[in-house]
Amino acid sequence: MNFPFSSVWQCLLSFLFRYSGRLAKSELTLNDQRTWLAYSLTLLFIPLFIVLLYALKYEMCSFSTGLQWFMLLPVVTTIYTVGSVFFGLSFRTSTFKKVLIALAPTLFFSLLTIRDLYIDPSLSFFHPVIGYFPGPMYDEWIPMFPSLYTYRLWIIALSLFLWGFTKLEKNKWPIFLLVLLPLFLRNQLNWHYSHQSIQKILRSSLQSKYTSVFFEGLDVVGTDAFGESMDFYIEHISKKLSLPLPTKKIKIYVYRGAYQKKKLTGTAETLVGNPIQGALHILPTEVSDTILVHELTHVIAAPMGIPILKLSPSISLLEGLATAMQPSHLDISIHEWAKAMMDLNKLPDIEQSLGAITFWKQNPVRVYFASGSFSKWLIDTYGIESFKKVYAWKNFEKTYQMSIQNLILEWKNFISTIKVSQANLDMADYFFNQKPFHEKQCVHEVAEQEMKFAICNKKTTDCNEFINRACELDPKNPALLLKRARYLYKQTLKPLDTAMIPLPSASGTRVQNNIMQLFHDDLHRSQNPQEVYNLSKYDHPSPALINTILTRMFLARNSKEVLEAIILGDYVPDTDLTWNTNDSNYNHAMLYFSKLAIKEKQAHKAIVFLDKIDLKNETDEFKLSYREIQAQALENLTSYSEAIEAYNKVSILSQSLGEKEFAEFQIQRLMYLLAN
Ligand SMILES: [Zn+2]
Repeated sequence: MNFPFSSVWQCLLSFLFRYSGRLAKSELTLNDQRTWLAYSLTLLFIPLFIVLLYALKYEMCSFSTGLQWFMLLPVVTTIYTVGSVFFGLSFRTSTFKKVLIALAPTLFFSLLTIRDLYIDPSLSFFHPVIGYFPGPMYDEWIPMFPSLYTYRLWIIALSLFLWGFTKLEKNKWPIFLLVLLPLFLRNQLNWHYSHQSIQKILRSSLQSKYTSVFFEGLDVVGTDAFGESMDFYIEHISKKLSLPLPTKKIKIYVYRGAYQKKKLTGTAETLVGNPIQGALHILPTEVSDTILVHELTHVIAAPMGIPILKLSPSISLLEGLATAMQPSHLDISIHEWAKAMMDLNKLPDIEQSLGAITFWKQNPVRVYFASGSFSKWLIDTYGIESFKKVYAWKNFEKTYQMSIQNLILEWKNFISTIKVSQANLDMADYFFNQKPFHEKQCVHEVAEQEMKFAICNKKTTDCNEFINRACELDPKNPALLLKRARYLYKQTLKPLDTAMIPLPSASGTRVQNNIMQLFHDDLHRSQNPQEVYNLSKYDHPSPALINTILTRMFLARNSKEVLEAIILGDYVPDTDLTWNTNDSNYNHAMLYFSKLAIKEKQAHKAIVFLDKIDLKNETDEFKLSYREIQAQALENLTSYSEAIEAYNKVSILSQSLGEKEFAEFQIQRLMYLLAN
């Protein structure tokens, strides 16, 4: 028994009640009405019973959570529906009018919901019949915020009012206004958030040529360079799509974290670019993060979409275009992602993904990338104007004078000529191996526990119970097991029970197994550190992982204290510590420290560590990582010209299309910042 089940059942029930309400023509006494309500609520035991039977046979995720959803959704909806039916029946008029009156409150709330979705930021909503729509299903966490309880309590009060409406003799209208009062205070009651109320909560804002940025806390976005970078992206995308520049400022909301974002907008980790409202809802990130280009594309492409909704009716093309505009994702270009999927036999069926319903038969993440590559190829080969036609109307045959099957075949031929490195292939394997939400075990309950764990203050409280419960619910999830093992180790600093430590397995991907191996080595370093870390234990480690392991070896020989601190997290060594420059892994250690410094937003320190490195005898891969960190540090210090020089070197050293495209895109952006 869980959230989706409760939702589906209550829709069926409310339909049934309306139908039976329509048949009841005669006048009912109060006693009859009570019997009716009791009878309706009794009907609810049917699904409860089915679910319990199911639970006896299979495992149940969480009974108490399920029961709470059941009380909050179908039970309250039943009370509301019965209340509305009696409301209609209590008028002395024709049956047709009675039905209309009974439906009126629901109609009003439905129109209000449509208005809210169209005008206000939230993609989740409360509704008397539906109860609660939690927002797009990509988010695994479905919260039960206190506001849901107060809203459903209010719905019960409203139902009782509707029920007794015609029997009220005195003060009918004052009571009516009193009952409706919470609806006017819904922003204050946290039942709904308007643009203004969110802007008030986030407090700070800054303006750029094409955007208004709203945010809380200063670190990532509180600089003019953020707004100017957004302006650059907007001009770049508009030009690529040959669309006019936006005439109204795009609102960019940057939330503190997933919890706050879910509460205010109905989406947590899922970032949103809303073409109807010209607004972005994102989490803090680097200005160079290409996901910003993705979300801005959704907004700028509004004129390409169908009227009113301003988007493509095909999710696959909608997301395909936005993904195609990203110069790379995780340093891998969109065509490289597609080729990696082809090599891994994970390429989804593009034709099927174009349908509104058949889209969901595929793994959404794979569709995003495959459709991104397909869209980019269509635009590069046949031009943006043709793509605009299919984006809105999906008329491939008419637009391209070719069947969709042939287009896909041509695209596949093009993709098959691309070469993907082993490291990127491993990365893609790891990335695409994540199951879509509907295939995961107890996904909402696990997400609930993970969120509780994430917001739990680990310095002052024992947060064990949440992560333990998550592991209990999904015991075969290696990422969860690793998260728990890391937390336990940091808390106790004692060797863990071996059963607690997830180990590399044949079914795991290479990247995942290597992560496990490193954790395992970290745990066992106290006995004999020199012998624990050994590159040969890892299966095709990526350049970043090689750097990590060589640094571990360096520290095991030279500073066990720093090794310990780094393993426990968030530690950047002091720049004035003296290190053994004769150690063969010295350069690797300095590079690793500079990465830690960047992660902790200490660009000055990063530069000092980089300056300690002698690049002369290093490999191209090493030099590439060096230049990437250098570019980022220099940009953070607003030394744009020098950052451009570093990106130029990245572009020359790059070993994949993605790295090259990313570097060149950053050069253009930094030149824009310099010119403004
Ligand atoms: Zn998107």
